Amino acid sequence: MQAPAPSSAASPMTTTSSHPSHYRFVICGAGPVGQALALELHRGGVVANEILLIDAKNAEQVSKDARTIALSHGSQQLLERWHASPQNATAIREIHVSRRRHFGRTLIHAQDYSLPALGYVVRYGDIINPLERSLTQADLQVLRPQLVAAIHNADDEADVVRIALAGRDDITADCVIQAEGGIFSDQVQRQQHRDYQQSAVIAHVNCAHPIAHRAFERFTEEGPIALLPQDAGYSLVWCCRPERANSLQQLDDVAFLQALQTAFGDRVGQFTAASPRFVFTLGLNAQADASRRTVKIGNAAQTLHPVAGQGLNLGLRDAFVLAQHLLRDPVEIGIEKFMQTQEHDRQRTIKITDGMARLFAASADGSALQTVLGLGLSAVDLLSPLKRELAEQMMFGRR
Ligand SMILES: Cc1cc2nc3c(=O)[nH]c(=O)nc-3n(C[C@H](O)[C@H](O)[C@H](O)COP(=O)(O)OP(=O)(O)OC[C@H]3O[C@@H](n4cnc5c(N)ncnc54)[C@H](O)[C@@H]3O)c2cc1C
Repeated sequence: MQAPAPSSAASPMTTTSSHPSHYRFVICGAGPVGQALALELHRGGVVANEILLIDAKNAEQVSKDARTIALSHGSQQLLERWHASPQNATAIREIHVSRRRHFGRTLIHAQDYSLPALGYVVRYGDIINPLERSLTQADLQVLRPQLVAAIHNADDEADVVRIALAGRDDITADCVIQAEGGIFSDQVQRQQHRDYQQSAVIAHVNCAHPIAHRAFERFTEEGPIALLPQDAGYSLVWCCRPERANSLQQLDDVAFLQALQTAFGDRVGQFTAASPRFVFTLGLNAQADASRRTVKIGNAAQTLHPVAGQGLNLGLRDAFVLAQHLLRDPVEIGIEKFMQTQEHDRQRTIKITDGMARLFAASADGSALQTVLGLGLSAVDLLSPLKRELAEQMMFGRR
């Protein structure tokens, strides 16, 4: 999508939502972040016909995304606020951290950090479906399937943004929020960019001895392997080099389960079944763009490696914080304040995630976590500040 040209001229906000092709807020992308923003704006008093969501895919395609997400406690609370608590959320109460070919392990418990859970494992579709229901109940409109082809800041006198839609007339808005997300390999390169040369193989796996509410993070020479408790088995996120990911995806079930057993070991017994495998490319691609009347949130602003489970958690915080500013102030001031307020959270989250991804994709960069792993994980159990450091990095978004 064409990036809007920044402009600094200020002017009062106009609302002309009585015209059917003009909206107060147009949100490009009805993924979880775009939907969350629409619901928070509506909750704050913006009437339904002043908001339009647009998505290139139909609802069924969006809800079939293969990703499983580890949601933070804070994200759970935000989703409850929008009456969109995810279906089938499995609480993670412990995380078992180990390193392949190294002695030792450490266990992180939710109760040591006064949390009911360290995270919640949810399928992407089980996040989207309740959000969709809340949108319908609130009469919020989603135009779909409809590709947004370009976004143009209109001239300063008109004071509106023009949204070019594929195959139909343009629409205009007082404010356009870009929440068109996406995955690393499909995106245009942004300012903060790092290709870790990693992909993730995603599948649901069953095993002989699952341990309820316990997640596993195993660091291997190829990259981290996460097993997140889900249903009677685990959601697998296996990070490795792209060529290896592609060849793992092509293995039949028996060969794939054997490869997983070798890489992960036998902490949950024998792996007995695997769903079809999907591969996602991973990388950092971030640039917090905004202009007078356009702003990017969620993966459209920052796409992160999933090693720390931060992407959607940060995206939901983006949506919540932006809505507060747009509800309180005229558009231009609201966007400006949002960019200032959210900068710290964004940069901190990018830094943590990038640090972990580089550590596990490459190795030794001297970070605290490298020291933690270098010590041998058993020793970490005896050294509580280091254990806290490790726990904080592993807590799926923290807030
Ligand atoms: C393997 C993997 C595991 C992950 N695990 C976690 C995790 O454990 N925890 C976590 O917090 N995050 C995780 N993430 C990150 C998380 O998936 C994203 O941060 C999140 O989906 C971003 O939401 P979004 O709404 O911004 O974008 P998306 O989910 O990408 O949704 C964007 C929407 O915009 C639509 N769209 C795109 N282009 C256009 C266009 N031109 N016109 C109209 N519509 C358009 C798309 O159809 C889509 O519906 C993971 C990611 C991957 C790849």
